[in-house]
Amino acid sequence: MAKKRFGYGDYYCWNCGRNIETGCDNCPSCGASYEGEGKFGEVKALGAGGVGWSNQEKHKSFAAYHKRNRRTFQICMVILSLIIGVVLFVVPGELDFDEEGLKIYAGVLAIVWAIDLAWYFISNKTSKSWEGVVSGRRTEDYTTESKDDETGRVTVKPHTRYIVLFRTNDGKEEKLSVVDNPAWYDYLKDEDRVRYHGSKGMNYYEKYDKSHDETIPCAGCGSDRDARENFCGRCGCIIMKAKNGGDNK
Ligand SMILES: [Zn+2]
Ligand SMILES: [Zn+2]
Repeated sequence: MAKKRFGYGDYYCWNCGRNIETGCDNCPSCGASYEGEGKFGEVKALGAGGVGWSNQEKHKSFAAYHKRNRRTFQICMVILSLIIGVVLFVVPGELDFDEEGLKIYAGVLAIVWAIDLAWYFISNKTSKSWEGVVSGRRTEDYTTESKDDETGRVTVKPHTRYIVLFRTNDGKEEKLSVVDNPAWYDYLKDEDRVRYHGSKGMNYYEKYDKSHDETIPCAGCGSDRDARENFCGRCGCIIMKAKNGGDNK
């Protein structure tokens, strides 16, 4: 089986999480049906998430996913560095291949790799995890204006900020604010019990009672998954649901 090297465009078995090729009807590992109507058998999506915390935030599939992402990003950075070199030295009228030119190239590379390093630290940032309830939800509409330098025309773009407020168990307020993407706002309802996972590479709001949703957001790639999936078909991360090893407390 040809192994794909990049983190995107891969497919994973919804049942066992194994990396599989597109076009398979059944998982070569666990035999689960992968395509078509009978994919999940008679099981209904509603209720499949179960009630209870998943306790899977340290599952190895998350580490593997982040490792693949980092590797993909590093490869892109190397390619970007080479392209910049080609543009600077090979395209006529840019730089001469001499000491002066090399110094400028080195300067540009330093900036590129500083951005890479910054991204590495941001993506590995750990924030405190907490538990609480949804205490409020609201939206804010606003507009941004951008001016075209050539024509002088001003374009006004409407935006919506989707805000979810939480009251943590130790009496603090937390806030989730996302621009132009209602996914969390739609998923998290008033008075829902929530556990926020802020550990390395994770930024995830787990709902205690997942039995009222047909979909569950993936804690790896963020895509909406069918509640019957055990693993995300897109990124291979385990789905954080009670039925995947939760303690139901
Ligand atoms: Zn499988
Ligand atoms: Zn995913």
